[in-house]
Amino acid sequence: MTIRTSNGRTVTKPNLHVAIIGGGISGLSTAWYLQQAQYRGLGVTYTVLEASNRWGGKVLTEFVQDVAPEPFIIEGGPDSFLALQKPWALQLARELGLEDRLMSTNDDRRTIYVLVNGKLVPMPDGIYLIAPTRIMPFARTALFSPFGKLRMALDFILPKGNPTVDESLGNFIGRRMGREAVDKLAEPLMAGIYNADPYKLSIQATFPRFVEMEQKYGGLILGMLAGNKMRQEMTQEHPAESRKVGMFVTFYQGTEVIIGELVSQLTGDMRLNTAVTGIERIEDDSYDLMLDDGTVLNAHQVVMAVPAYTAAELLEPMTAGAARILNEIRYVDTGTITLAYEAGELNHPLDGFGVVIPISERRNINALTWTSTKFDHRAPEGYQLIRAFVGGSRTPEMVNKPDEEILQIVRNELHEIMDVTAEPIFHRIYRWPQSTPQYDVGHLERVEAIESRLPFGIFLTGSPYRGIGMPDCVKQGKQTADTIIEFMKAESPTL
Ligand SMILES: Cc1cc2nc3c(=O)[nH]c(=O)nc-3n(C[C@H](O)[C@H](O)[C@H](O)COP(=O)(O)OP(=O)(O)OC[C@H]3O[C@@H](n4cnc5c(N)ncnc54)[C@H](O)[C@@H]3O)c2cc1C
Repeated sequence: MTIRTSNGRTVTKPNLHVAIIGGGISGLSTAWYLQQAQYRGLGVTYTVLEASNRWGGKVLTEFVQDVAPEPFIIEGGPDSFLALQKPWALQLARELGLEDRLMSTNDDRRTIYVLVNGKLVPMPDGIYLIAPTRIMPFARTALFSPFGKLRMALDFILPKGNPTVDESLGNFIGRRMGREAVDKLAEPLMAGIYNADPYKLSIQATFPRFVEMEQKYGGLILGMLAGNKMRQEMTQEHPAESRKVGMFVTFYQGTEVIIGELVSQLTGDMRLNTAVTGIERIEDDSYDLMLDDGTVLNAHQVVMAVPAYTAAELLEPMTAGAARILNEIRYVDTGTITLAYEAGELNHPLDGFGVVIPISERRNINALTWTSTKFDHRAPEGYQLIRAFVGGSRTPEMVNKPDEEILQIVRNELHEIMDVTAEPIFHRIYRWPQSTPQYDVGHLERVEAIESRLPFGIFLTGSPYRGIGMPDCVKQGKQTADTIIEFMKAESPTL
């Protein structure tokens, strides 16, 4: 193919070669969508370079055999992903032929508990994300004080904010619904997804729909009620789809199924144990990538699907401006510990999906998932699994403690919160140092500023930028591949 370079010269290449740095869900999705273009006859080839000895990055499923007749399925990272609201990972699963292996969460047991003054209080029916959408359960709940409930109702009449100015999630929810809603809902439920301080987390980068609701309906409760109506209409219009997939889905054999299937269907040059240590722009407007095995890979376009600080290091010699802003994206350490029990040993029914813990409770853990209730096929018959989340902006010191200490602290917490005193039959700890990007206020502006400084032919994609969950990573991978393909079509007169 013939391509026109940034300085107007025309060069002939056998194919456009793309180097993808990072073999997590973002890098692999980019490769998948480039491969689809290849099947459509476009001359594009790719190499995926992954520093570690496994594909998937934070998507990691472990099978624990030999304890029971069936294996335990333990998630080290994500345990499920949004399906209907953010359909991109679900779509990818379907493209990969994984429809029959999908499994929804057990939504008939969806109760989520909030820890309030050391007691587990169920979230009332009809609270959708942040706002009550049904009056009676909200009026009766012990979760909020009478003052807290009245303050939340002010959402109906308070004036709108300025949608063009980013603000923190804590500020936004506090302004509309009061501090109790921040403490008991927004902080543990929503900032919890991002392992972030709600008073630093950008509303525009994380929950832009709330800003839209405020502008369009005058408040969150009215916005949620309108959303309820839309969801009901959607369920009536697509009853089969709504029955088949719940709000969150995974696979019978764990989230890593999507990684295994991607890797088995990707036909490009796939290299594990290969870190990129440097990138140099060379004369014909392609790039030489220095690899840690001492070799050099030449590529016309480079996709960086790695943490922002790694991208900054690689870009520093070419664009110090982009590198500087990339380094402004902060990261926190996170960790999870899963404990397995014999079912009869627990003093607790595990009658829900788990517990969210407001920061005001001052615990050493951030949240609990009652994994064997939330999902089928995670613990064999007669066993139960609980997963605790630590680290993030709340309990950063927890991640660096020795295993035995983490185990002991988490067991103490389970005793105090749930009266669980049983000895777990085994546990698994996963540490994710510098793993979770923080979308601080102004995040989207920073991302735009970085992108505007990128050299020709370099792309950034993945969790540091425009969405942290698996569906957003897949979406960004697809968008990156589409941009490369559009570039090829525009620049190559022969296509
Ligand atoms: C504990 C935990 C729970 C989570 N729960 C959920 C959930 O339930 N649902 C959900 O949707 N999301 C969840 N997430 C978020 C989601 O898992 C991540 O945001 C997503 O997997 C990130 O994918 P990525 O490809 O962008 O990055 P990563 O998975 O971090 O992949 C980046 C890859 O780049 C490689 N790399 C780094 N440097 C180099 C280099 N120099 N050369 C080559 N390779 C390099 C790394 O080894 C890594 O494999 C969770 C995350 C964590 C940590």
